[in-house]
Amino acid sequence: MTIAIARPSIDEREIEAVVAVMRTGSLAQGDTVAEFEKKFAAEFAHSHTAAITNGTAALHIALLSAGVQPGDRVLTTPFSFIATTNAIIYCGAVPCFVDIDEYSFNLSPENLEASIAKYPDAKYLLLVHLFGNPCRMDEIMNIANKHNITVIEDCAQAHGAEFDARPVGTFGIGGTFSFYPTKNMTTGEGGMLVSSDVAYIERCKKLINHGSSERYVHDITGYNYRLTNIAAAIGLVQADKVREMNHRRKLNAAYYNANIANEWLRLPEASARANHVFHQYTIVTDERDKLEAYLNKHAIGYGIYYPIPIHLQRSVMEYMRHAGQSIERMPVAEALSTKVISIPVHSQLPEEEVLYIAEKLNGFRP
Ligand SMILES: *Cc1c(COP(=O)(O)O)cnc(C)c1O
Repeated sequence: MTIAIARPSIDEREIEAVVAVMRTGSLAQGDTVAEFEKKFAAEFAHSHTAAITNGTAALHIALLSAGVQPGDRVLTTPFSFIATTNAIIYCGAVPCFVDIDEYSFNLSPENLEASIAKYPDAKYLLLVHLFGNPCRMDEIMNIANKHNITVIEDCAQAHGAEFDARPVGTFGIGGTFSFYPTKNMTTGEGGMLVSSDVAYIERCKKLINHGSSERYVHDITGYNYRLTNIAAAIGLVQADKVREMNHRRKLNAAYYNANIANEWLRLPEASARANHVFHQYTIVTDERDKLEAYLNKHAIGYGIYYPIPIHLQRSVMEYMRHAGQSIERMPVAEALSTKVISIPVHSQLPEEEVLYIAEKLNGFRP
């Protein structure tokens, strides 16, 4: 059997929690969701939280609540899951891509300065802490503050990640999380919005529930993006386990860093100022096709995140064309999309599989 690239940790505790909610008959959004919001806030030191149906919806609401209007420019990374840019498109806004840093895979502060000089009317920045690795938030926030740019953080892959001991999602006006089963913690499908601004989270909560503050009274046009009590019951258990699960990921990554040495492979680096939670362990290689064949032969699962940078996705190029915007080249993101490959690092890997993967990677010769 192939070693899986991702596997959620589900045991009797999640199963019993779901059954308990089923027995109450209160399945949709209710007390369990409220309890999960509180618990997630406490776990990661967030002041205010709003649970939501998934991480993509969280991004959509995070942008709307921050005031993003049709036609607004939103600076963002071309190297992420498509959801990041799709949320900008849902708002009718214009994504302005900022190329990434070769080593962190994250939007680079240097390129950010250059993009702002080019698009002085950009008012928003939607950044991503990719693979669980926090962005250089001190530099990014300095630049954003200098230019009056509102920052939103996509933390879908970074539950528990910190920069200078400060949790991701607390730097900008709002942060978003995903609880898809491959993420560092799961609720099946699910998401969370976080903010230190209570008015911001109140706006989010209204938008999540058809724009109503009171039942059947609607002030603004909202959505049905509510999380269910069933999902929240899973989330309550997962929130108890996420530190331990992140610890396993970090131990696995540390083992790879210490024990893989192969001139054909560049291993991921974590800054000493960052608490990298290793949603993915991503290697860079010029010989990816051969490495894929080799991993297949040795029954090691892998993932390519991401094979096409967002600015070159057909859906995005079409949108930009309709919006009368040109597509700029993103040399670093484009090059890395042909060279990255992620190997299993998740919390459910038995130790012998971690050793096996490291040994096999050491034996790779193109
Ligand atoms: C998973 C993910 C999302 C979307 O989350 P869903 O819960 O799947 O909708 C958004 N951004 C990034 C970076 C992701 O990895």
